[in-house]
Amino acid sequence: MFPLQDFLKQQQAQDLYRTRKVCEGQQGPRQRCDGKDMLSFCSNDYLGLAAEPALAESMRKATEKYGVGSGAAHLVNGHSQAHHALEEELAAFVGRERALLFSTGYMANLGTVSALVGRNDYVIADKLVHASLIDAAKLSGAKLQRYQHCDIDALEQRLATADKGKRLLVTDGVFSMDGDIAPLAELVKYARDDSSALLVDDAHGFGVVGRHGRGSADQLGCHDDVDILVGTLGKAFGTFGAFVAGSDELIETLVQKARSYIYTTALPPAVAEATRTSLKLVEQADDRRDKLQQLIKRFRHGATQLGMTLSDSQTPIQPLVIGSATQALRMSEQLAQAGILVTAIRPPTVPEGSARLRITFSASHTDQDVDQLLGVLEQCA
Ligand SMILES: *Cc1c(COP(=O)(O)O)cnc(C)c1O
Repeated sequence: MFPLQDFLKQQQAQDLYRTRKVCEGQQGPRQRCDGKDMLSFCSNDYLGLAAEPALAESMRKATEKYGVGSGAAHLVNGHSQAHHALEEELAAFVGRERALLFSTGYMANLGTVSALVGRNDYVIADKLVHASLIDAAKLSGAKLQRYQHCDIDALEQRLATADKGKRLLVTDGVFSMDGDIAPLAELVKYARDDSSALLVDDAHGFGVVGRHGRGSADQLGCHDDVDILVGTLGKAFGTFGAFVAGSDELIETLVQKARSYIYTTALPPAVAEATRTSLKLVEQADDRRDKLQQLIKRFRHGATQLGMTLSDSQTPIQPLVIGSATQALRMSEQLAQAGILVTAIRPPTVPEGSARLRITFSASHTDQDVDQLLGVLEQCA
């Protein structure tokens, strides 16, 4: 075996070493982690559905019908009625001809990008897109061009050099570490000819923004102009998995070519059944989304009064950018001592020098929870 000690020591020395906390019980604002009761502000369970009893009940019933394992890939005999119905319902939810389930969002991006572009093509990506889109571009063999975050002029410059082959524009809808929304109404204008397409990964937008949770492009009024929508089910939906939605032609192409779809076992059907219940709740969850907006406003108002610099985010992702990894880590540890769980996000997850506390809110938080967070932040600042 190769020696790995040097790498590990180096990570430790730079405060980039990653560790895991062992958490007990269900997802929710109050969680016991590493044996200590915590008030958590780091989950992606934005609507508080992960521990929703109706989802657990659907899953329990479905295990009686289907058992646990799906047994095989979708193209063998793993594609159940539950998967099929969920795909149809997701397609209706986002107003597309078809949707295709993937086992994770990471795999959805890998499979989709590498099915659509190759060596002679371009992937043109916002600087801050999720790691899975970067890995997807690399896997595809296409030339990867990145433009400054949300900067249309920079995008135009990149496009000018990408003059041969296909051009796949990729962006997060809601950016996962910043919480801001991509300028989608502008971006769609650059994907209107036969050699271009736009993929929007709205992992943090579906369920949270847009009318009835239909996502970022819906919020910005350009929903119908996005060619390829990617959504994940492990965040606001509270379950697990992901989907890609678009035209019939797109989905058929993915079924033929997306290797992370073809060569992997289908999700457990019971997870798909729980997600069908979740989708119904998501569509009816305007009250939860209103509550979230209230909590976000309360936090932003309070943090501004404390003199903190907030990022330009109206979503439940409210990062406090600290700068150095060491300081971000120290601050996260201080918060943990006061019973507040917020993880320090460090490079390479975010660019060098922009380590941060990624604070997230859930509809299950209360006003008092937000006030408690603000109180502790004031002490630590
Ligand atoms: C979380 C996330 C993914 C990955 O989804 P998983 O289902 O967790 O694999 C992809 N894209 C973005 C923008 C994400 O935030």
